[in-house]
Amino acid sequence: MENIKAFIFDLDGTVYLGDEIIPGAKETLEWVRNKNAQIKFVTNNPRFSREFYVNKLNKLGIQASIDEVVTSANITAMYLKEKEIYGKIFPIGEEQLETELQEAGLDLTDQDPDTVVVSFDTSLDYKKLMIAYKALNKGANFIATNPDTVCPTPDGGLVDAGAIIAALEASTNRKLEGVLGKPSSLLAEMLLSQLNLSPAECVVVGDRLNTDIKLAKKSGMKGAWINAENESLSKDTEHMPDYMIHSIAELPSLFEKADAQ
Ligand SMILES: [Mg+2]
Repeated sequence: MENIKAFIFDLDGTVYLGDEIIPGAKETLEWVRNKNAQIKFVTNNPRFSREFYVNKLNKLGIQASIDEVVTSANITAMYLKEKEIYGKIFPIGEEQLETELQEAGLDLTDQDPDTVVVSFDTSLDYKKLMIAYKALNKGANFIATNPDTVCPTPDGGLVDAGAIIAALEASTNRKLEGVLGKPSSLLAEMLLSQLNLSPAECVVVGDRLNTDIKLAKKSGMKGAWINAENESLSKDTEHMPDYMIHSIAELPSLFEKADAQ
């Protein structure tokens, strides 16, 4: 724990489940703040603003500031802005993505874009697919906010960005060139640069091995897996977590035990 200077928390399934706080989350977050460690809350959901998540956390009794929240849309906008080659952008996404891109100072266009950005989009239509298809065939950059094929919901899920990426890959013979949501190494780089820390000083806390723990392990950060369902880890799990707990409530005792040893 002495070496850990930042905790990177997944949100849904880790801090809350839908609209319900996970018991012990508030106390764990207060424990982290008392340790003076930095905090990031990271979600692959590109549909809501960072303010939305600050308000949601505050309503649940958890302190959070806008700089601590990272959404896949927001981090994509920041990434595209940093690199000049991305030029004018055609987004396949919802209003929030357009807002994030514009707030970052990027120009949006549906005429000969330099970059196509694919995201979750319930307003997807054939026209949008064709604009992206033509741009990709002309060599436009091909970037996505998040790789998820399905966004989980209580009634069976929603078709997500990954499925739209697959449609464009199939029709153009192009391959996606960059994705910013978990478990992207571009995201890990952006987080580490915002935190100004080395990977070994950060721990990712989350309930998904293939997003949260993979993000951690690919980049050299520690991964604390919340195994709420009591799943068994198989030997061939690609990205083994460093720690396993059953709830965010167990995080303080995990680290205090480790420190005492
Ligand atoms: Mg989760």
